[in-house]
Amino acid sequence: MDHSQPETIESWLNWKWQIQNRIKTQEALSANLELTKEERSSFDSCSAFFEFSVTPYYLGLADSKDPHCPIRLQIVPRQEELIRGPFEKQDPLAEETHMPVKGVTHRYPDRALWYLSHVCAVYCRFCTRKRKVSNSFHTPGKEEWNQALAYFRSHSEIKEVILSGGDPLNLSNDKLDYLLGELKSIPHINQVRIHSRYPVTLPMRIDSELCSVFKKHFPIYLVTHFNHPKEITPLVKERISLLIQKGNVIVLNQGVLLKGINDSAEILKELFYGLTAIGIKPYYLHQCDEVWGSSGFRVEIAKGVEIMKQIRGKISGLSVPLYVVDLTGGGGKIPLPSEYLAEKTDHSYIFRNYQDELYEISY
Ligand code: SF4
Repeated sequence: MDHSQPETIESWLNWKWQIQNRIKTQEALSANLELTKEERSSFDSCSAFFEFSVTPYYLGLADSKDPHCPIRLQIVPRQEELIRGPFEKQDPLAEETHMPVKGVTHRYPDRALWYLSHVCAVYCRFCTRKRKVSNSFHTPGKEEWNQALAYFRSHSEIKEVILSGGDPLNLSNDKLDYLLGELKSIPHINQVRIHSRYPVTLPMRIDSELCSVFKKHFPIYLVTHFNHPKEITPLVKERISLLIQKGNVIVLNQGVLLKGINDSAEILKELFYGLTAIGIKPYYLHQCDEVWGSSGFRVEIAKGVEIMKQIRGKISGLSVPLYVVDLTGGGGKIPLPSEYLAEKTDHSYIFRNYQDELYEISY
């Protein structure tokens, strides 16, 4: 039976209806997509390891017949998820080993990540945090919030707190208002950032009430996660406009380079231009982290560098994100630039431009 259609458009546009009516079983998924034999046989074994869930809205973007659809590849479990590659880790960024209090990773001196929810509207099959996302045991309660806030207050080197998860926008507006107020009351906190995929998978979450909360705590930086131009729908455009104009939020995007989904210069150019057109600055393009079961998604770094070489210089710099890898083991992010520096002489640098021409400059 198809559970994905509400009786009214108001229900469809209600984010709580979308969350309550997420598709979670193979039976419900089959009512919406023509699953291949491989997809059917992978479903139970993969979702036993990492839960399956998708909103009716996001599933509606998937092609019901094409197993190579870029939306479908992000949400439907596949057999490769069960492979454990030699370099893959359960916690590739060592987030659990830099955790001074439950729910807080403090790895870089001036920044702390705070995991506020372990629920997402959609569980992305390439998720770096599949070790704990979708597991309610990890969701911090009020006592843990207070411990985290006390930690931020007592560490004056922390200039930025990043609300993350799961998806922090899964919290109610009242809770977000309270937490943002507490963080903004700490004198040494310079900026607050929110990492959320809800603008992509649940854009109806962005409504006037949420925007009022953000406006009250201006400035808020929201980093979202679009991976493919198909995700930029009319509803997304409308709600991002609301977020920027009514919430006064600064919106950026960090996507992931994903095999068979966006690993071409043409798709990425369309994505980056599409984001800039609706007011989102492309910030990072991530090399897919070496998390367990991610080999089916990972693009070779050399190919990623080549793709970025085809993009940089060909489209406006405003639309070009930095291609980065977050080093497995917790080494932090490093940029992966093309080889622009061709040679260094005693008196000059010789650079190769985006058209492979050499230019010499002195220093
Ligand atoms: S939205 Fe983010 S945290 Fe949630 S499953 Fe996707 S990648 Fe993981």
